[in-house]
Amino acid sequence: MAFSPLIEQLIEALRCFPGVGAKTAQRMAFHILERDREKGLHLAETLKTAIKDVKHCSICRTFSEHDICQLCANPRRNEELLCIVETPADIIAIEQTGIYRGKYFVLMGHLSPLDGIGPEEIGMSQLRERIKEKNLKEIILATNHTVEGEATAHYIRELANPLNLKISRIAHGVPLGGELEYVDSFTLAEAISGRLNVE
Ligand code: ZN
Repeated sequence: MAFSPLIEQLIEALRCFPGVGAKTAQRMAFHILERDREKGLHLAETLKTAIKDVKHCSICRTFSEHDICQLCANPRRNEELLCIVETPADIIAIEQTGIYRGKYFVLMGHLSPLDGIGPEEIGMSQLRERIKEKNLKEIILATNHTVEGEATAHYIRELANPLNLKISRIAHGVPLGGELEYVDSFTLAEAISGRLNVE
């Protein structure tokens, strides 16, 4: 049995979320229509506002409603350390460990030539300028320990090598093929404190 066109459209729209297939989308659609129309409306409005107003921080590229995000604007963060991560979720994961007090740069992905994602797409020209800042002493490569994450770390290492910087890579505990976001805080804290020099 086919649903009415509007319901079909709603189900199709809900499938835009990662991991949501036809069945789950259908369940979500019915849940909203049957029980939670008000929350559904709230969701729609919040989505619309967020999509319109959330931009990228002009310094670190993470999501922000302001030109400069809270972390970049915080004068108590250590300007000598720059941790380079793939996604804003990685910042949250590292912040939860509570051991890192430096700044961040968010690639918003990783190098993936087959998908058309090259150095420009992950902000390399911006990073090139950033790592020349005079206060900076160390960059920490905290890309995922996946093939693409390693390739990206390698690229950045080459970029930073001519500069007089300490370059380190997060180490122990982050499993091969592992994504930071899914590593527990303790393991991630160990990986940051045990980072390896890779100059
Ligand atoms: Zn920022």
